[in-house]
Amino acid sequence: MSVLVVGSVAFDSVKTPFGQVEEVLGGSGTYFSTSASFFTDVKMVAVVGEDFPAEHLDFLRSRKIDLEGLKTAQGRTFRWKGSYDYDLNEAHTLETHLNVFESFQPDLPQGYREAEYVFLANIDPELQLEVLNQVKNPKLVACDTMNFWIGGKREALLKTLRHVDILLINEGETRQLAEEPNLVKAARLILDMGPKTLVVKRGEYGVIMFSEHSIFSAPAYPLESVFDPTGAGDTFAGGFMGYLVATRNLSESNMRQAIVFGSAMASFVVEDFSLGRMKKLEYGEIEERFRKFKLLTEFDGLE
Ligand code: AMP
Repeated sequence: MSVLVVGSVAFDSVKTPFGQVEEVLGGSGTYFSTSASFFTDVKMVAVVGEDFPAEHLDFLRSRKIDLEGLKTAQGRTFRWKGSYDYDLNEAHTLETHLNVFESFQPDLPQGYREAEYVFLANIDPELQLEVLNQVKNPKLVACDTMNFWIGGKREALLKTLRHVDILLINEGETRQLAEEPNLVKAARLILDMGPKTLVVKRGEYGVIMFSEHSIFSAPAYPLESVFDPTGAGDTFAGGFMGYLVATRNLSESNMRQAIVFGSAMASFVVEDFSLGRMKKLEYGEIEERFRKFKLLTEFDGLE
């Protein structure tokens, strides 16, 4: 089983209260793919510039990510610059340079067109739809986006959302997309836009999943050492989707387990800048954190 993802592959420059890095490996596609690769095979659609080093490609290959759909184009790789204050839940975008993504026209390799599971990571919604249109018969389509696109390409995003089963966005984006301050009302409005399930990421406060007949809430893992929240959302999505693909089970109970696996993955990535923590992560640590998550909210039947 595999998941097809389209998203950004980037150089990030990030400042948090705990340090600062310049032009490190980042991007929604990169974080998603790395995280999902702990659970299932990943096929990546993206573009990088000629300035993208072999060392980063080697890392993605070491995670067994299929890079047939990753093109190298003339020009510079996507760049994002952001900063965080002590409230690490909110990223302040300082610069976004789409660079090679501006003229990227994806042409999916033949093997990618049969994909059953598709993740449209945070990138131009027109590009998300272009990729989706090339997939013959997807079984499950999940999608992420951000304020940059909700504000800048709203119509295109609404068009994409009509084809999406699960939307994963953060709390501020939920209110912005629905144009409604109350989160529960906003969720209902978004479920009328196409998605059958909405997963709202709330940083250190966890996740709430809304579907027509149920609401599920999970905490975030309480960590002492949050260093850099960049990529937490994409890494969450990678764990969530990776687990769903690996288990091929979309029951409510399994979706809830997927939320906890996603939360476990996100709890690792924030422990270091860029993909530093993911490069050292082992599957046993993920299982261990999943068990600790279970204990975190157990309040019944304890000795
Ligand atoms: P998050 O999981 O929300 O923290 O995502 C952070 C990643 O999103 C960073 O690695 C950025 O490179 C990437 N990113 C930031 N802005 C955009 C954008 N407008 N389109 C695509 N990717 C972006």
